[in-house]
Amino acid sequence: MFDRLFQVFTAVQERYLHDPAFATAEARRRHVEWLRTRKKLFEHELRDECDESYLSQAADNLVIEREIIATLPPRVVHEVHNNWAYLAAEVTDPLDPSTVQHDELSTLHWYDRTEQATVDTPAPVGDPADYRGFDPIEEVALPPQMHWTDADKKVALDEAVRIYGIEPGQWFDLEWPPVAHLWDPSHVYQSAFEPCEAHVEDDGDDDCAGCQDSVRDAVEDMAQWKWTTTLRIHEISYDGEGQEFSTPTYVEQGYEVAATQQDPRQILIGPPGQGRYW
Ligand SMILES: [Zn+2]
Repeated sequence: MFDRLFQVFTAVQERYLHDPAFATAEARRRHVEWLRTRKKLFEHELRDECDESYLSQAADNLVIEREIIATLPPRVVHEVHNNWAYLAAEVTDPLDPSTVQHDELSTLHWYDRTEQATVDTPAPVGDPADYRGFDPIEEVALPPQMHWTDADKKVALDEAVRIYGIEPGQWFDLEWPPVAHLWDPSHVYQSAFEPCEAHVEDDGDDDCAGCQDSVRDAVEDMAQWKWTTTLRIHEISYDGEGQEFSTPTYVEQGYEVAATQQDPRQILIGPPGQGRYW
C-alpha cells in the first residue's frame, strides 16, 4: 500500500536533510510510526470540520506541514533550490555595485547593435538637462553593460532573505540577470567664471582664452542606474503522490538589486527607445 507519509519523510531526508540517524529505511519507518501518532491527534482535531472521506488526507497534510516541513532548518530548502548560485559563490567573487561607475566601454556594444540593426547611431547626451527628445530620457537612455554572475545572484538572494525573513519550506528566486533603468539622469553645470592672473584686477577679459577657459563643464552628482528584477517567494508542499511542488506565495516586480553610477555626459541616447524592437 502506498504510504504517503513515509514517501514524503524519505523525500525530505534525501533532498534536504541527509540526517545519518535516518539513513536506513528501518530508522525512517520508526519515525513515521511516531508521525502517525501525530496524525491521529490531527484527525481528532479535524473531525468536526472535515468530511470523513477527506479526513485522512487532511490529517496527512497537517503532519507534512507542521511536523515535516515546519521543522526544517529555515534556509535549507532555499539553498538546495538555488544550489547553482550558492556553488558559484564559492568560486567567484561578487561585484560590488556601489563602486561601479560605468565608463565608455560599458556602452560601446550599442554602436555594434545599432549598426547591425541599421538604425541611427546612438550618441552621448552631453547634458541630460538639454535633452529635448519626444520620449522621456529614462526611456531612451541605453543601459550600460554589467557582467552579472550567479555569485551576484547569491548576494542578491541573501539580501532578499535578510529583508523579508525566511520560513522553513520557503525558497526565494530572482529572475537573472537584472535589468537597468535610468533612475536619475543628473545634470552638468558650468563652473564659475574666474579671471586669469593677468586680468584679475579687471574682473576678467571677454577676449582672453585664459579667462574663458575657467568656465568648464562639471558634474557634481553622477547619473544613477537602478537594476531591478522579479522576486518570487515559493513554498514547497507535497501532493497526494508524495511529490514535491512549489507554489509562489509572493511576487514583486521591480525588486531592486543594485544601483550604479555613470557620468551623465556619457549617457547614450539610442534610436527607438525602451521596449521597442530593432
Ligand atoms: Zn584673462
